Amino acid sequence: MSRKLKKTAEQPGRFGPYGGMFVPEILMEPLRELEREWRAAARDPKFRRELDGLLKQYVGRPTPLYHAARMSAALGPKIYLKREDLCHTGAHKINNSLAQCLLAKRMGKQRVIAETGAGQHGVATATCAALFGLECVVYMGKVDMERQALNVFRMKALGAEVVSVTAGQQTLKEAISEAMRDWVANVRHTHYVLGTAYGAHPYPEMVRDFQSVIGKEARRQILAQEGRLPTALVACVGGGSNSIGLFHAFMKDRGVGMIGVEAGGLGIRSGQHAARFAEGRVGVLQGTRTYVLQDDEGQIRLTHSVSAGLDYAAVGPEHAWLHDTERAEYSYITDDEAIDAFHKLARWEGILAALESIHAVAWVIKHARRRWTKKDVVIINLSGRGDKDVQQIAAWEAKHRKS
Ligand SMILES: *Cc1c(COP(=O)(O)O)cnc(C)c1O
Repeated sequence: MSRKLKKTAEQPGRFGPYGGMFVPEILMEPLRELEREWRAAARDPKFRRELDGLLKQYVGRPTPLYHAARMSAALGPKIYLKREDLCHTGAHKINNSLAQCLLAKRMGKQRVIAETGAGQHGVATATCAALFGLECVVYMGKVDMERQALNVFRMKALGAEVVSVTAGQQTLKEAISEAMRDWVANVRHTHYVLGTAYGAHPYPEMVRDFQSVIGKEARRQILAQEGRLPTALVACVGGGSNSIGLFHAFMKDRGVGMIGVEAGGLGIRSGQHAARFAEGRVGVLQGTRTYVLQDDEGQIRLTHSVSAGLDYAAVGPEHAWLHDTERAEYSYITDDEAIDAFHKLARWEGILAALESIHAVAWVIKHARRRWTKKDVVIINLSGRGDKDVQQIAAWEAKHRKS
């Protein structure tokens, strides 16, 4: 028994008992090749230089670490917002898409594919494919295409082909399955740009690496601006990339708390949510072993969130491990609380945040007074801007707040 556990721990891409490579045999070699190429690129000064140059000149990094003074005064602790919403295309997703497209070019692939839910990862990937002259196909559920017509237009304008996926719930989970099917068939000349710290190894670790620029900057910035490390970091958790990107550089700073916020949807008791750590159980989905929302037969449960980017039944495997080891803490925020926080942040700071990011803001609004005092410093990752969500918010309010 103990030997078996030891063996598990030695397998590549494991975070404790989580992660791994649960894929069809035909994808094992492409995944191994991807890992080799990524590790070689990471050691190559020319690749690093080109990536760093583009992150600066094209994406607009470093993003500011902004002291939210009016929000701080209202809530107690000194609150900073890491402004990923100011990245080109409006969210952190481009940090990862840019690096993976550059890697695809280095590997000699002429075609990239991606899955997308709300469309943010599709837009980021279509953008970077245009930048490097790569062919780009984005898989998107039919329902999501209707909900996110603006992002569909953006992807097409950028030269990408958007394929409507009509299987199952016609949303993100089915889009990932379709993208994997495409990859199996076209792997020789195609790279699959996965959009979050999820899926089979090496994706969770590779995407974390590409997003860890967020935390590296934030750590340097808070030391320069405050002369100390923060009390806590707070970020929303969909697949888990913006949160792990912020957390990673602080992992060894044991005094820095880490809080991941999931989508509580209509509340845990309603069953309509995407709070994997509230009700999920360990299972295997789309290449990885992690916490999954499933029924007693192991069927994947339907999920709900007002925020499309958090609306998924499983969570990145490293978060499962951080949860079990209690290095990070996980909580959730309901749709209602998120919409309230959207308006509060807009009035306090003049910032319209993405519905995903606002879950982290809402958690701080809800818990700051009980947890912290004026002496504490808190960093919230503002993963994206809210322009994409204004229609969704208007529709939500028309439906739920008729009064
Ligand atoms: C996609 C998205 C998320 C959720 O994905 P993670 O991988 O958990 O970061 C969060 N915020 C924004 C703005 C997004 O577009």
